[in-house]
Amino acid sequence: MKRKVLLIYTGGTIGMEKDYETGSLRAFDFGNIFEKMPEMNLMECEVFVHSFTVPMDSSDMGPMEWKMIAELIFENYKKYDGFLILHGTDTMSYSASALSFMLKGLQKPVIFTGSQLPIGDLRTDAKENLLTSLYYASLYENDEAVVQEVAIYFEYKLFRGNRTLKYSAEYFDAYDSPNFPILGQSGVHLKIEKEHLFRPDSGLEFSIDTHISEEVLFWRIFPGMKLSFLENLSEVKVLILQVFGSGTIFSTNETLEILKKIREKGIEIVVVSQCISGGISFGKYENSNVFGKIGSISGRDITAESAITKAMHLTGNKNYTSSFAESFTKNICGEISVDL
Ligand code: ASP
Repeated sequence: MKRKVLLIYTGGTIGMEKDYETGSLRAFDFGNIFEKMPEMNLMECEVFVHSFTVPMDSSDMGPMEWKMIAELIFENYKKYDGFLILHGTDTMSYSASALSFMLKGLQKPVIFTGSQLPIGDLRTDAKENLLTSLYYASLYENDEAVVQEVAIYFEYKLFRGNRTLKYSAEYFDAYDSPNFPILGQSGVHLKIEKEHLFRPDSGLEFSIDTHISEEVLFWRIFPGMKLSFLENLSEVKVLILQVFGSGTIFSTNETLEILKKIREKGIEIVVVSQCISGGISFGKYENSNVFGKIGSISGRDITAESAITKAMHLTGNKNYTSSFAESFTKNICGEISVDL
């Protein structure tokens, strides 16, 4: 029996070709992918294509498109064995993180991929990314999907989506997952690291929760920054502060006073690190004590992309019965280490 994969083409470099006369890039009709890449017909799975009406640069994608993708997966969940989302690379980690929170009790693979060079380019990385992603999106063992989470496949590696960040605009290996091991790797053999795969709570039926709030602000602290800029925040319910190292900030009284005032307005403060690997450890240095005093939330080893989309998903979401702080600290779908 051939497994069925729904390929959702949203846009990005992967779906472009070069007009060799003018030298510029243009999107091509993804419905014709089988003509462009006859190799796809040799795959052991059957591929069905759904294209966004207008392919998008991923910098234009956001909550509306995340919801569209979640709904598309929900409507087609029973019909297909796996889902492959072709997406621009710039915001892929945000979309993969957001989708990981929206898809509840997922028991089928949802793989994101894209490419650094267009599929129509001679040196493209798109073909390998696309073909191997299809392999992971249709991988089953004993009638059970091997990958049951939102993942990103890129340049020979399969990552947990909500642990990734795009760290290179130049190299083919554009993504990294510094705080969580890879889920699989493609070499001579296509490998899967079973012990690192996420599994939803058993008995949980697949459903979607597309709640997203836009009342979240992300702010990077820098030496010499005037914290008073943060005093007059309006409409913000959650402020994510990206602070130094393992969780330090200026030790001045003013810092305490300003952060206290922000908290008194009912704004939650989540603290994440500017370091790409490692995470927040309150109390390690005196300069992190202020966060304990004002009752802020440690983002531990979560990525900025995941912290932002998790906060957007939790803010004002009635489906979560515990407080924002408690829900944020919980490991919902493998995005945060709780034993740090
Ligand atoms: N700007 C493009 C995008 O994110 C880059 C890419 O696809 O690689 O849509």
